[in-house]
Amino acid sequence: MGYQIEQNLIHVNSHTRPGTKLKGVKGVVIHWTANEAAGADADAHFRYFDKGLVYASAHFFVDSGKILRIIPENEVAYHVGAKSYKTTKYGTYPNATMIGVEMCVNAGANFQETWKRSVWLVADLLKRHGLSINELERHFDITGKSCPKFFTEDYYAQKYLGMSASAAHAKFVKEVAAILNPPAPAPAPTGTDIGTLEILAGGLNVRESASFSAKIEGVATKGQKFTVHAEKNGMYHISGNKLNGWCSAGTQYVKFTAKPKPAPKPAAPAPVSKAKSYTVVKGDTLWGISRKTGVSVENIKKINGLRNDLINPGDVLYLAKVHVVQKGDTLWGIATKNKLSVAQLKKLNGLKSDTINPGDVLTLA
Ligand SMILES: [Zn+2]
Repeated sequence: MGYQIEQNLIHVNSHTRPGTKLKGVKGVVIHWTANEAAGADADAHFRYFDKGLVYASAHFFVDSGKILRIIPENEVAYHVGAKSYKTTKYGTYPNATMIGVEMCVNAGANFQETWKRSVWLVADLLKRHGLSINELERHFDITGKSCPKFFTEDYYAQKYLGMSASAAHAKFVKEVAAILNPPAPAPAPTGTDIGTLEILAGGLNVRESASFSAKIEGVATKGQKFTVHAEKNGMYHISGNKLNGWCSAGTQYVKFTAKPKPAPKPAAPAPVSKAKSYTVVKGDTLWGISRKTGVSVENIKKINGLRNDLINPGDVLYLAKVHVVQKGDTLWGIATKNKLSVAQLKKLNGLKSDTINPGDVLTLA
């Protein structure tokens, strides 16, 4: 179902609407208003930001009855500024390249309605600006600020959605992805299968052919299971869940279980590969995971940037230091920064060529 975007632009002023043009739209940031007072709806935020009293703003305010644009989509809003950033994906000043969407949490409103409108708006923005689900970020992902709190703190996720923060975030991403990539009628599977696959990542692109630059057919989401037909170029040909295409074979993203060989001769032992990630199950503690994986609690926390011992079922923990490839990265650059040779880096990751793609996850140790 679709919604209308209403527009009521605040006046140009130095504090909330500088009138500066965005340097292209590279991503969409989701926020919450953090204002739980009754009446703190989209219109109230229009009135507040139109006064131009604070150095803050956002393009959109969504409440349970409307989607309101208060700053044009090609202008800067001050929603994601900080002294330092967790990513360089959106340039050195993300306010210049990102659109901000604030979800209202005013008392008395129907949060489910706010949620539905926000999911629709984010998908609409990503679509209209030629972006993928990978360019949907939480404020937290860019600056580390705990926002929106129902996607970063279990207390607020329970309060608004009755689930953990990681589950709430995954649900939002999944619902946006479902609008972005409605499952296409899948051609019949090839008939052969070499095993099964479970998706570990929150959202994983499924592409038309065995290339990381091939057209995206859809997005597989965490926990979904697929039949695997082939492996090629570090990708698996999968089918299931109304999808049929190729996805990354990275063990950080997927868990592959080979089909037992029917051959009568004793099966050759599967190559032993050190697990690079661990998916948290109910009842897990960091200490227990450390015992199971042989990686110290201290290292698990360091690698995953955990500030406390809080983990949730479904969380994927990396067990080795990794680097997520950004646009412009080179193997030489990544190797040098991490005191490795290019040869060592390639060996660690089983790379046969020097080609890396944004979004690839490289093991560094
Ligand atoms: Zn925010």
